[in-house]
Amino acid sequence: MKLYAPKYYSHFSCIADRCKHSCCVGWEIDVDEESLRAYAALEHPYGKTLMASISREDTPHFCLTAGERCPHLEPNGLCRVILELGESYLCEICREHPRFYNDTSRGREVGLGMACEEACRLILSSDGYGEWIEVGEVSGEALPEDFAAAEHRDRWLALLADGSRSYAARLEELCKTCGIDLSSVTDAAWRALLDSLEYLDETHRAWFSCFSTAAPTDARELWLERALAYFLFRHCARAEDAWDLRARAGFCLFCERLLASLAESRGVDSLEAMILLAQTVSEELEYSEENTAAIRDAVAEWTASEVG
Ligand code: SF4
Repeated sequence: MKLYAPKYYSHFSCIADRCKHSCCVGWEIDVDEESLRAYAALEHPYGKTLMASISREDTPHFCLTAGERCPHLEPNGLCRVILELGESYLCEICREHPRFYNDTSRGREVGLGMACEEACRLILSSDGYGEWIEVGEVSGEALPEDFAAAEHRDRWLALLADGSRSYAARLEELCKTCGIDLSSVTDAAWRALLDSLEYLDETHRAWFSCFSTAAPTDARELWLERALAYFLFRHCARAEDAWDLRARAGFCLFCERLLASLAESRGVDSLEAMILLAQTVSEELEYSEENTAAIRDAVAEWTASEVG
């Protein structure tokens, strides 16, 4: 089947040692079976170092060093596995990151996760988020058309991209179309929900206490619009039914409001500052299955409004 990607996808490449917030710090990196076998069979002198760095407890993973750094991350930000052995020896997670995949009825989609600094820069600064390019073929069958979630999502992306109306007006219409009214719940209740979540970095718990459904959009609307388009792209195509789709759309709209609140409370006026906040929302919320589920459930149950 065909593999599709948003237009900006082909411009991505990891910025490695220039990355200020490397994915090789702070995350536990699991090692897949195939890579483990390849590492065990290595005759290269670095093979022993590699094997010694892997814990076999639960799923095999690299043991992080001080500061929660990957043991193969050099002080200059480069990856020792690539330097010693070449990119083909990266384990699956490192090879694939920050890509994610959605299976849809027209084929498979590949996107770039916003927790990655360079992907976030592309997402927030690129035009044409609703335009797709074909980037290859993959094995497997496209999903049957039982519930064409991606088609609903694409209609929402088209609504969002209609620049003839203000962003605020498009956002309002999108909420109505999805049947989500976040402002039907008090900001205090949303903040309590955010406070109840797990965090990779505890300082973000305090950051997120600024949440307000009324956060203004004006000064940063293009960045907010593109971030919302990314959330919709990533999360909505995976919906299994109408209830799930609405919950996922609500999660996306909630993330947009959180990003708008953070940008306002921190007086963000540059792309670089916005990238830091968007990455933070992404890694704390959408890269945590528990946090994503908690918000999706709350949004779906608390905020029903008439579907437009
Ligand atoms: S976060 Fe992105 S740009 Fe930074 S090191 Fe990881 S893949 Fe590369």
